[in-house]
Amino acid sequence: MPTESGFARRPATRRQQAALAFVVACLAAVLLSPVHVTGRHPGALVVSIEFDDTLADQLSVRSILAQHRMHATFFVNSGVLGRPGYLTVAQLRALASDGHEIGGHTVNHVRLPGLSAGEQRRQICDDRRALLALGFAVSDFAYPWGAHDSVSTALVRACGYDSGRRAGGLAFASCISCPRTESIPPPDPTATRAPGSLTRSQGVPTIKALIRSAQQDGGWIQLIFHHVCDACGTYSISRQDFSTLLDWLAEERDAGRVAVLTVRQVIRGEVPR
Ligand SMILES: [Zn+2]
Repeated sequence: MPTESGFARRPATRRQQAALAFVVACLAAVLLSPVHVTGRHPGALVVSIEFDDTLADQLSVRSILAQHRMHATFFVNSGVLGRPGYLTVAQLRALASDGHEIGGHTVNHVRLPGLSAGEQRRQICDDRRALLALGFAVSDFAYPWGAHDSVSTALVRACGYDSGRRAGGLAFASCISCPRTESIPPPDPTATRAPGSLTRSQGVPTIKALIRSAQQDGGWIQLIFHHVCDACGTYSISRQDFSTLLDWLAEERDAGRVAVLTVRQVIRGEVPR
């Protein structure tokens, strides 16, 4: 019987079958490969949860992150590992085995600008080397206090990092005229912009407002945490508040309004399904 095109339907030849199989394979490869997120799209916000400074009390978020099926990035100073009040190598390995990213933060948490190029190199490169030697796949860096200059940004690349994070540059607290979110990919991966370090007094309502505001533009927000404890310092969040925040963030994620990704996933442009 002629088809609408006027040609009789014939059984597919072996060549046609092979071509069809190829197309199906290509489609499957595209559909199953990681999604690449680029630019800023309103309503599509990526949030990274980050912990700086190797602080021992950060281990207490491990179960909370697991309960919410979220992965964080821990920026570590290799020179303090195992010292009183700091994470041990075994604890860091446990975090990495959960799927959390381990990043670099200099050997001794020094303010880089003003140091000699040689000392900056030692602080950035030796920290990364030490973490790699311990078996951590370290690919991203955060400047202590966000402080950086042209020497440190060049060294981040030279030492083998894919990115370096600031602690400012977005509209939050002190910079009202700055953009609300970082772009994906960031225009300068060696100085990615972030809201400043979060304080205890800002609390969950401020962080939710920050994310709500960022959702209007889309892009990337990095949440920078330090201590996890009850009222133990300016830069801290309680376990209860962190858990409350992640309850809400999980609802946003499950509703498709945010994706929670590690820095490495954002910088490499990969969103796992
Ligand atoms: Zn720090």
